[in-house]
Amino acid sequence: MKSLLKLLESGRVLVSDGAWGTMLQEKGLQAGDCPELWNVTHRSDVLAVAKGYVEAGADMILTNSFGGSPVKLAQYGVRERADELNEAAAAISREAAGDRCLVVGSMGPTGKFLMMGEVTEQEVFDGFALQANALRKGGVDALVVETMSAIDEAAIAIRAARRATGLEIICTFTFDLTANGEYHTMMGVSPGEAAAAAKEAGASVIGANCGNGFDQMIGVVKEMRKADPVTPILVHANAGLPVLKDGKTVYLETPHDIVPKVRELADCGANIIGGCCGTTPGHIRAIVGELKSN
Ligand SMILES: [Zn+2]
Repeated sequence: MKSLLKLLESGRVLVSDGAWGTMLQEKGLQAGDCPELWNVTHRSDVLAVAKGYVEAGADMILTNSFGGSPVKLAQYGVRERADELNEAAAAISREAAGDRCLVVGSMGPTGKFLMMGEVTEQEVFDGFALQANALRKGGVDALVVETMSAIDEAAIAIRAARRATGLEIICTFTFDLTANGEYHTMMGVSPGEAAAAAKEAGASVIGANCGNGFDQMIGVVKEMRKADPVTPILVHANAGLPVLKDGKTVYLETPHDIVPKVRELADCGANIIGGCCGTTPGHIRAIVGELKSN
């Protein structure tokens, strides 16, 4: 098993992978389908996404397990298959990666709010622990708790994942740019607050994903870097802001469009750069090329 932190020690800005959800939609995943079920029913399609990112030159790829917490899977009636679906997700990415790059297990939000009493802390903790352990069994090197908006859920996920596996944990939140130029999550958390909470819970890499294009992520990284000068920062940016076209949400920034912003993200303090919604292996290849160029 490789250490992400060790790899970061070299000082080189690492490249992560791009989108999974929008790539699987291209392959036929419909709204309302359970993406994690595809790890079993459409294994070759999921493997193709993973391979695309390995071949693009990414230093790390994620797994198709974003919605793999049992609490989330319950919404599709497959809660009891959490162990199987997460282990399969990890095994697919491991097969694609071999030892060419790291595999980082994706753990997204449950979709339920602790604050509202929709789930108990114990239920959320046990679910994330089960998911983390299944991802470890499938062969991941590290875990990423991602797209978080609430500090309580993020902290529980980090603690559960650490307790269950002892693996290195990345934690990213999703921020929106408000009309007055401030960034905060849907639950009102600022980049500085998110970074501090993630660190305190035991994350060794902090960051931001989704919600913003490469442009807007520059502001998020600056704020996070100001609040925390030392902890490595990961950014997974969308291919621009979403645009509604023929009733479909699309992301229009091309690999060529994002190149100048990649350099600026690195200069502002991002240590790992990859993509979220709308990004493709082409975007990842462009990031690799730009970061290698000087
Ligand atoms: Zn996204």
